[in-house]
Amino acid sequence: MLPYGRQSIADADVEAVTEVLRGEWLTTGPTVGSFEAELARWTGGVPCLTVTSGTAALHVAYVAAGVGPGDEVITSPLTFVATAATAAMRGARVVFADVQPDTGNLDPASVESLAGDGTKAITAVDYAGHPADYDELRVIADRTGALLIGDAAHSIGACYKDRPIGEPADLTTFSFFPTKTVTTAEGGAVAIRDRDRYARAARFRNHGLVRDPAEQRDPDHGGWHQEVHDFGLNYRLPDVLCALGISQLRRLDHFRARRADLVARYNALLGDLPGLTLPARRPYTSPSWHLYPVRIRDGRRREVYDRMRAEGIGVQVNYIPAYWHPVFADLGYRRGICPEAEAYYAEQLSLPLFPDLTDHQQDEVVERLRAILE
Ligand SMILES: *Cc1c(COP(=O)(O)O)cnc(C)c1O
Repeated sequence: MLPYGRQSIADADVEAVTEVLRGEWLTTGPTVGSFEAELARWTGGVPCLTVTSGTAALHVAYVAAGVGPGDEVITSPLTFVATAATAAMRGARVVFADVQPDTGNLDPASVESLAGDGTKAITAVDYAGHPADYDELRVIADRTGALLIGDAAHSIGACYKDRPIGEPADLTTFSFFPTKTVTTAEGGAVAIRDRDRYARAARFRNHGLVRDPAEQRDPDHGGWHQEVHDFGLNYRLPDVLCALGISQLRRLDHFRARRADLVARYNALLGDLPGLTLPARRPYTSPSWHLYPVRIRDGRRREVYDRMRAEGIGVQVNYIPAYWHPVFADLGYRRGICPEAEAYYAEQLSLPLFPDLTDHQQDEVVERLRAILE
């Protein structure tokens, strides 16, 4: 089955990993800081903290943002469930705003109508790798005193009005899952603008341990002493995986360019197909395409999904509206609250997109789709 996404691993990646494997450190050693420094070159200098997954990154971001019981977090339903689930696990009340029908990104007008004094964070998702409308969301965040969070699991390397993703939001999260543009197998990171929030996040990642005697409540025990002031978790990304991350980042420009080429080819090859809506791009953005999301009109999405899969083309659907998951339904979330997101989901299909997809394979995907739709 041709997958909808997959990693691209080069000999240089294998060598980078084996070099660390043969060395002194397997887990927290010098490679963690090196990877974080390399990442910050892609976030406009905003400091980055690596963690064990994109989900962990979101969890850490909400902790760093001070999201707690009763706080309101506004986000998009057109995302992987973790964007909302991690906020709910902090005890927050998740409020779903609707999306723009062409980009699938959070609609600032919908966010505006929902945001108020209780809003602690607004979490945008750069759906498919296309940046959200950060300027409009920033105005709403400032008015309500909320923090702006970007779930950039799809969009590492993208630009919004010439600003690299990681720069426009207060906190930005990345995922390095194999289907994403850069992989460490499992892994993630948070870009954090504020120093105190960075410190809080770094502590949470490492059990909440306080090592600096100047900050300890009871520093006179001896050199071994460390204290926990707030509970934390072990979300440390090991050196071995950070080595893979550094090596992958060296090819991020190439990954982005190849993905953009494939998107341009899809756009050209699919433009005349009936019953198909192609993804939009705002002129002020430079996306880093993770998905190629089309909309199959006329109620034919399921049929097209089934037939493409039967022919060995691993198309995917991204995503079921987050609040349709039973866990949210059980909390009282009703269908119908975000009609644009639900309409998007009903038609959405992701076609295969990854750097090692050949033009020939892509032509095959197009031919199969054409045979179904024409
Ligand atoms: C992949 C993804 C996540 C979760 O990342 P993991 O590394 O799989 O935990 C969160 N949000 C979005 C939008 C994603 O695509």
